[in-house]
Amino acid sequence: MEKVVIGIDVGGTSAKLGVVNRAGTIRWQTSFSTQSSLEEFFARVGEAIQTAQAQLIPAVEVIGIGVGAPAANARSGTLQAVNMNWSGNARPGPPDGRRPNFREALSRAVGLPVVLDNDANATALGEMYFGAAQHLRDFILVTLGTGLGSGFVVNGNLVYGSDGLAGEMGHICVDMNGRDCACGRKGCLETYVSANGLKRTVFELLAQRRTESPLRGVSYHALTARMVSEAAEAGDPIAAEAFELTGKILGLKLADAVAHTSPEAIILFGGLAGAGKLIFEPTARYLKQFILHIYRTDLPLLPSALPGSDAAVLGAAALAWDNNQ
Ligand SMILES: [Zn+2]
Repeated sequence: MEKVVIGIDVGGTSAKLGVVNRAGTIRWQTSFSTQSSLEEFFARVGEAIQTAQAQLIPAVEVIGIGVGAPAANARSGTLQAVNMNWSGNARPGPPDGRRPNFREALSRAVGLPVVLDNDANATALGEMYFGAAQHLRDFILVTLGTGLGSGFVVNGNLVYGSDGLAGEMGHICVDMNGRDCACGRKGCLETYVSANGLKRTVFELLAQRRTESPLRGVSYHALTARMVSEAAEAGDPIAAEAFELTGKILGLKLADAVAHTSPEAIILFGGLAGAGKLIFEPTARYLKQFILHIYRTDLPLLPSALPGSDAAVLGAAALAWDNNQ
């Protein structure tokens, strides 16, 4: 029987579940709502595993579950409740009432070992098992979505620190008097380097420059990172300058990060990384400019090699494979 793991990507409205073998092939997959109680969610997971085991030929043996979820903590086994139904308010348990011990509860419900981690750490392991980092032992993975997440792999292991919170670059400081961040502080990296950060940069530039731009007249809520990419590709100087500034700040902070773990490569993942050379070219150029000369100045800056729509499930599965080494 082929050994497989279950990878589950938990989102705000739905979860994707995949049965994944060691080669990274998704043998079977399904998705279901997360707008239910935790108990119902666990029941859906159990049913999905039973259905997959009944349907798959050749037969499979499920040896573990990996779960990637927003703000999940691998050490405490908790995650950010994706909705009020998961808050645990109705029963005694988690001290703050909002962060159920998801890992233990799921493991009890389905009778399998469960590994839980945040999306960025899961994606980093996904790259190591199935993607761009398959031959790497030391690398940094940065996810560029609406925010900025990161995972640090050192000597083949994710870095967790004392409490599971190590390696979060999104809230390192770029400018102590800079942009307001949702975390309550100022000048965090993700307020500049993320889809939302890029939009804020465009609006600052539009206010500072008199240059004509197709982005003038677009409201903040209507503007998307893709519109900025398309404008830059069409030659709009405001959009081009916004990518240049984004790459400059990211390059500077990656150069700082290199001093912490001296990686073999840095991988960029996520929607904004999909802007291709618009983001990679300035980031690589400034990384090379700002990096301390004792480190390799030609440090590879790589795109993700995970298939976009399956990346989260493969990342979650990689957590489970890593737990079964
Ligand atoms: Zn912040």
